[in-house]
Amino acid sequence: MASLNSGAAAQVLKNLGANSDWLEATYQQFHAHPELSFQEHASGDVIAAALSTYGFSVQRLGGTGVVGVLVNGDGAVVMSRADMDALPVSEATGLPYASTVPGVMHACGHDVHMTALLGAAKLMAETQGSWSGSFIVVFQPAEEVGGGARALVDDGLTHKVPRPDVVLGQHVMPLPAGMLATAAGPVLSAADSLRITVHGKGSHGSMPHMSVDPVVLAASIVMKLQTIVSRETKPGEFAVVTVGALNAGSTANIIPDRATLLVNIRSYNDTVRTRVLAAIERIVEGECAAAGSPQPADIELYDQFPLTNNDAAATERISEAFAVHFGSEAVTVATPQTASEDFSVLPNAFGAPYSYWFLGGSDPELFVAAQDNDGATPAVPANHSPLFAPVMNPTLSLGVQAHVVAALSYLDGRMPSRSN
Ligand SMILES: [Zn+2]
Ligand SMILES: [Zn+2]
Repeated sequence: MASLNSGAAAQVLKNLGANSDWLEATYQQFHAHPELSFQEHASGDVIAAALSTYGFSVQRLGGTGVVGVLVNGDGAVVMSRADMDALPVSEATGLPYASTVPGVMHACGHDVHMTALLGAAKLMAETQGSWSGSFIVVFQPAEEVGGGARALVDDGLTHKVPRPDVVLGQHVMPLPAGMLATAAGPVLSAADSLRITVHGKGSHGSMPHMSVDPVVLAASIVMKLQTIVSRETKPGEFAVVTVGALNAGSTANIIPDRATLLVNIRSYNDTVRTRVLAAIERIVEGECAAAGSPQPADIELYDQFPLTNNDAAATERISEAFAVHFGSEAVTVATPQTASEDFSVLPNAFGAPYSYWFLGGSDPELFVAAQDNDGATPAVPANHSPLFAPVMNPTLSLGVQAHVVAALSYLDGRMPSRSN
């Protein structure tokens, strides 16, 4: 196994310090001007212009996405991805560079991701004598709504760039800034949302015998769905089934003719996911039959996020490179998160292995304070909170270094000749 050539990393990162003002200014610009999913026009313009200056060949794909390719001799092809979109959240951090767009905030840290990958692209482009291969940077729109990675693929990504040997990504998390966390296998859950409409027979509220009551039917389905995790899923196996919305009727004295349920599920493997989806369908069909529903339920899947399931070999290679570069005390084993991502749509479209790691971004002092309080839940604002506020230093620097080091664990390993 090729390991990181520390000499190449040192060469690529030698101007990182000189770029710290640029990194902070770039981050503050993204943070102050957040853009919602598929509306990342200004961010895309900034990124595309910068990548062109650095010498990348630039394509605008997937609506507001930006893809840059830097071919630098023979060797591996590495694709690194950053997501771009902000959230419909009103910022409450009070930071001097807080959002200037009412009701929109980079509350998930995608501004950190854009800045870090742009910084890595800049440094890699400036030091092409220190590595060999191809570096592809993908700035992906609309992660939050689960459609951005798919939009890039639907726009022909797999035909428009070289096939990557590995695809890499990172997410800033409420871990102490200065820390990285990575793990092989599932690190983020698969998520699916379902819209289920069950049909009854409407009637006057005083004449239930003339009806098939969809309210009672839907209530029965809600209760029965609770048995999927408690009775059908092996204890210790991860699955979540949540009914997030249940809508029927409009007034007290009318029995409506339909009810709609919005259901969200999470899982760490396809077997569990398939089983849970089949169980939902079976329960809905069974309850509809029991209620005498006049027509089959409509079941529609939407907002689907695939499993993020890190390739073991790629993750071992990158973890080793991180440990060499950052010191083993800065790299921890990631705990699988119940949140979800559409990142893996990209590597899966190429059939390429991938690794996705977590980047600490929170002020380490907050963790000390939380421990002092003996609180079970640390008082550290998490992603999507209006108070989410990664500290710029050392988060941005670490984000750049992580991308460079991870990429070089592939690119450097196949250099035709080494200068050190
Ligand atoms: Zn998010
Ligand atoms: Zn995010």
